[in-house]
Amino acid sequence: MVEATEGRLCSICGRRASVKVTYSGLYMCPLHFNTYFESRVVSTIKVLRMVRPGEKVAVAVSGGKDSLSLLHLLAGKTKELDIKIVGILIDEGIRGYREAKLEAARVHAEKRNVELIVDSFKGIFGFTLDEAVQALLLDGFRYKPCTVCGVLRRYALNQVALDLGVDKLATAHNLDDEVQAFLINAIQSNLSVAAREGPLSDKVHEKLVPRIKPFYFIPEKEVMVYALLNGIESPFVECPYIVYSLRHVLRKWLNQTTSNKNPGLKHRIMFLKTKLTKHFTRQMEFKTCKICGMPSSRDTCKACEFKNYVTSLLKRDKLF
Ligand code: SF4
Repeated sequence: MVEATEGRLCSICGRRASVKVTYSGLYMCPLHFNTYFESRVVSTIKVLRMVRPGEKVAVAVSGGKDSLSLLHLLAGKTKELDIKIVGILIDEGIRGYREAKLEAARVHAEKRNVELIVDSFKGIFGFTLDEAVQALLLDGFRYKPCTVCGVLRRYALNQVALDLGVDKLATAHNLDDEVQAFLINAIQSNLSVAAREGPLSDKVHEKLVPRIKPFYFIPEKEVMVYALLNGIESPFVECPYIVYSLRHVLRKWLNQTTSNKNPGLKHRIMFLKTKLTKHFTRQMEFKTCKICGMPSSRDTCKACEFKNYVTSLLKRDKLF
């Protein structure tokens, strides 16, 4: 948790503080907040051995502040970590939203001198998310836009990362994202999935690029402050489909509950998740999707299932 502060001095250097990190009780000036933030992320990467010297890491970039902050931070730490980085952006095809975020990602990647690879749902699956949602709507919304979008984006990122031959795929999921995902899975009785999703994944299938989450222990508000202090800008446009998202509702509730004199709530939920993880240590067994050959927990992967379902709806309703 971060609080703005007035008239306080930096607990480290005595200059004017602009941020209070609530759970540590420290007031910080911009310079020391930046150093504190970056060293926390770098230690997470080093302590958990998220990367090895000489590795190539793809950063999943959405164009939002979290992923641009991760790109910014890693671009400044390539020498210290001895890694090379590249950005990957998946254009879902969401009119009025994706264009602006894509532009922000391009501008930022160029500023940090990082190559940005852009691919799209249209190119990989044959339809945009807008087209898919139109079809889903006509079929009674058996699946919500975010469910389809999440599965397809995860698949697309992995495929592009695989084609690039990178060693790791870094995502900007922060502590708030992890708490929300944990609660969603718990609500849906997917406790084993909820407890298993950690800060890094192993190479459990030859076609699954291991994922790392360097912001795993960092609250969203700290990432926002870091973005602000480093001039990382992202246009304020929201995805039009966010209204259908359970995560959106949970995020609002969690933020309200946390700010109402319950500052440790998110950390306590993460603690519960860590405790539960011990009971779900058995590695999930991956099969190979019989349609696309990619990793899957079942005979046919969820992405192929959604792709076939949406394609059949689009053909049936002549929406292509
Ligand atoms: Fe996709 Fe949902 Fe996020 Fe929109 S809000 S980009 S549909 S996951």
